[in-house]
Amino acid sequence: MICGASFAGLAVARELAGATRPDGSPARILMLDRYEVGERQTSACGIPTTWLEAMGLMGSHRQTFHELVVHTPHQTARWPLPWTFSTFDYGELCRLLFDQSDCEFETAKVDGRTGQTLHTDRGDLTAPLIVDGMGWRRLLASGDGFQPPDAPLSRGLEVHPGGQSDDLAIWIDRKYVPAGYGWSFPARDELRIGVGSFDPRFHVKDTTVALADDLGSEAVRYQGNWIPHQLRPATEDGVFFAGDSAGHCLPLTAEGIRTALYFGIACGRELRSVLAGTQTREQALHAYRAFSDSHEWKFRWLLRGQRLIPRLRPRPLRALVGSMTHRRLVDFSFDQYLRVAPPEFAGTPPAPRAARTTSGAAVA
Ligand SMILES: Cc1cc2nc3c(=O)[nH]c(=O)nc-3n(C[C@H](O)[C@H](O)[C@H](O)COP(=O)(O)OP(=O)(O)OC[C@H]3O[C@@H](n4cnc5c(N)ncnc54)[C@H](O)[C@@H]3O)c2cc1C
Repeated sequence: MICGASFAGLAVARELAGATRPDGSPARILMLDRYEVGERQTSACGIPTTWLEAMGLMGSHRQTFHELVVHTPHQTARWPLPWTFSTFDYGELCRLLFDQSDCEFETAKVDGRTGQTLHTDRGDLTAPLIVDGMGWRRLLASGDGFQPPDAPLSRGLEVHPGGQSDDLAIWIDRKYVPAGYGWSFPARDELRIGVGSFDPRFHVKDTTVALADDLGSEAVRYQGNWIPHQLRPATEDGVFFAGDSAGHCLPLTAEGIRTALYFGIACGRELRSVLAGTQTREQALHAYRAFSDSHEWKFRWLLRGQRLIPRLRPRPLRALVGSMTHRRLVDFSFDQYLRVAPPEFAGTPPAPRAARTTSGAAVA
């Protein structure tokens, strides 16, 4: 049972396509989400292009950028990226991922869990293997009082006006947010303009509107959420957690799509061998948790960066932003950053399959 049909849940399902039991019969996999697949956008949808290519998702591609434009109060720098960044269409990407899976799908709101039984607004469901890909609330955990504004969560809000631009741009400017950054991610005929605050107490609505206003755009079509910036155990009480539910979002940048895909794939691989009978559920829980934990030091360093940058005074900030225009430094930094969740991990992209409808088996 995969709960959540966004990046993490869909990556797990994709990895389980064609999974069989020891006797060769197909494994039964059910995915649940409170909305239809791809119905509600959950991010600005910016990702290293190589990840779209590696996953066979270029059909959802919108725009590619070779440089990052960084605005501070005193300068504008253009960082030449060693690899490109792209924006994509959320609904199209989710549907492409779904087409690469063969799970059944039902809309249902998951309310909680008792043991291996899920409680949903459409009844109870029991499964031997359960994945929580439902975001930062980590609904299927025992509950540890992890709530904003006290939990290690950032907050992000964006608007989606129509418009075009060639620049993938960020603003490190206290005018918009004391700790965090503003962004404008163009996606062909739409701009995704937003503000992310690493301090959950800072309300980003007014400054999101201000940034849109400063860019001559209308503050329309809002999308926002809390964004985790600290790893949490990737397994708990027999449940697998992937994506934001396990804090798999990168703390320095709030980039959480490729990591949700990356850890979702890792989780799917472990589950696949449980279904095939080549390892037990307990072994899979252990292996997946160890895999996630092995990234802890990288997340810790990125969190240090997140805490350091807002403390920089104007002159060191200017020097830092300016230094990243040097090719060797920017190549090194961005290559290290990509290696936290490298695209090769996805394996070879699958052959395109026919589009599927989301109507599956009824929830019993
Ligand atoms: C404003 C903003 C902009 C962002 N921009 C970017 C970006 O450009 N690039 C990037 O890499 N990251 C970005 N992020 C971070 C990124 O969106 C998240 O890290 C990523 O979406 C995590 O994926 P996920 O699959 O774990 O969870 P989500 O994408 O949050 O998906 C959770 C899924 O679970 C479902 N769900 C939730 N509760 C229930 C329930 N009770 N019952 C049933 N279903 C449920 C939801 O409907 C949803 O489909 C942004 C975040 C925000 C807030």
